[in-house]
Amino acid sequence: MKIALFDNGNHQVFKFLGFGDSDEVETNQFLIKDGDEAILYEPGGSRINSLLFSEISTVIPPQKIKYIVLSHQDPDVGASLNFWMVSTDAKICISELWTRFIPHFAPKSIAKERILPIDDEGGKLKLGQSEIVLLPAHFLHSEGNFQVYDPVSKILLSGDFGASVGADYETVQNFEEHLKFMEPFHKRYMPSSYAIKSWVSLVRTLDVEQIVPQHGPRFVQKEMVGKFLTWAEGLKPTLEENPGWYKLSDKILE
Ligand code: FE
Repeated sequence: MKIALFDNGNHQVFKFLGFGDSDEVETNQFLIKDGDEAILYEPGGSRINSLLFSEISTVIPPQKIKYIVLSHQDPDVGASLNFWMVSTDAKICISELWTRFIPHFAPKSIAKERILPIDDEGGKLKLGQSEIVLLPAHFLHSEGNFQVYDPVSKILLSGDFGASVGADYETVQNFEEHLKFMEPFHKRYMPSSYAIKSWVSLVRTLDVEQIVPQHGPRFVQKEMVGKFLTWAEGLKPTLEENPGWYKLSDKILE
């Protein structure tokens, strides 16, 4: 299924979801279209590729996808890459830390010449009349991690940051109620409050109307975006709260 997150006629942002089987982590996939060019962000796992391909075909011929951007290296983000590299001519954008891992997803002969490494400071991609920002979000959770900010729609596609598991609604209405689906994941998967606080400061310099993660519902309008950022700023990662992981238990030492 697809949801239009933004549409001004020439510039559109779509979220695709609902392809996953019950035994996999449900993911959101994204397409930003400007004129007759498109960016696919977070293509997803290999079991959804043909369904996603046909949904995208209702919006734009998939061959018009100019860039495929991966936030990071996880399989639910990019295990379908082999399919997309064969079925489009798109360039693959991923952190320079992860480019050497692409041949594990797709044959080296195909991967050659197709990869655009993103350096740590991020960058911009020209798409039709617009420019899309590759926003650094390192250690949230991957050590080389990029989100996508679209200045036209004012949407921040935030990858795993803001993700939740188990919420069955499309937009967050009650932030406090939503925390039970979101907070445990963030405490465990986001290891550094330094990284989180730095990211919050960066996002506050942008004009953001929606924060849309790769899993679960999105945060819509400035008030909800503000609540999310305030919560994130105060988040205490489990790792920083002395979880006691780095000692062997008596059972193991026996
Ligand atoms: Fe991940």
